Amino acid sequence: MADTALIAQLDALLPQTQCRQCGYAACRPYAEAMAAGTAGTNQCPPAGDEGARALSSALGAPYMPLDPRFGVTMPPAVAVIDEAACIGCTLCINACPVDAIVGATKLMHTVVTAACTGCSLCLPPCPVDCIAMVGIAQPDEDERHAAARRAGRRYEARELRLVKNRAIAEKDAALKTAAARKHSTVQRAIERARARIVQNRSKR
Ligand code: SF4
Ligand code: SF4
Ligand code: SF4
Repeated sequence: MADTALIAQLDALLPQTQCRQCGYAACRPYAEAMAAGTAGTNQCPPAGDEGARALSSALGAPYMPLDPRFGVTMPPAVAVIDEAACIGCTLCINACPVDAIVGATKLMHTVVTAACTGCSLCLPPCPVDCIAMVGIAQPDEDERHAAARRAGRRYEARELRLVKNRAIAEKDAALKTAAARKHSTVQRAIERARARIVQNRSKR
């Protein structure tokens, strides 16, 4: 059974960048894999060696430096959109794991800097390459922890919303299928009734 307390402890040590460099879909699944013993403690580039040390100490495992196959620790940065070049396709909004981009279809988009984790996931989908990562001042430890907690909450809120949206879409699809099935049952009944009428008339 999953050790939820240990998972929460490991998750709290992660920077909540939600960048997927560890090979998992987000920080939480990586924490789950570490707790299950299926992932090493040295796979998170944003956490760096300091993070790898904290994770291995929480697990009582030997410290191993960051594995460069998962990437290197980069200086802090946030995404900035060249609003004049943006075509409003919304692809970056869908890619952002913490809802840090605002905009609507065919309107220019902008990044809420305070919410951006610097994960870079919005860059590849942009069809006009109008998003760039821009360096920011190194936050102190308190700021870093506060930002990680905020990012974790934003990620969870987004996941909940996506689950809810999927449930609504599935319900809509089920209702449409049921309506289509009902329609075809009624159609077949009408056709049978018509056939009976024609048959009865021909017997007279
Ligand atoms: S910050 Fe990125 S690499 Fe580190 S655990 Fe979270 S998703 Fe994985
Ligand atoms: S705006 Fe881009 S870089 Fe910033 S959190 Fe969202 S996807 Fe990541
Ligand atoms: S992906 Fe690029 S072009 Fe599309 S809305 Fe985002 S910034 Fe604008």
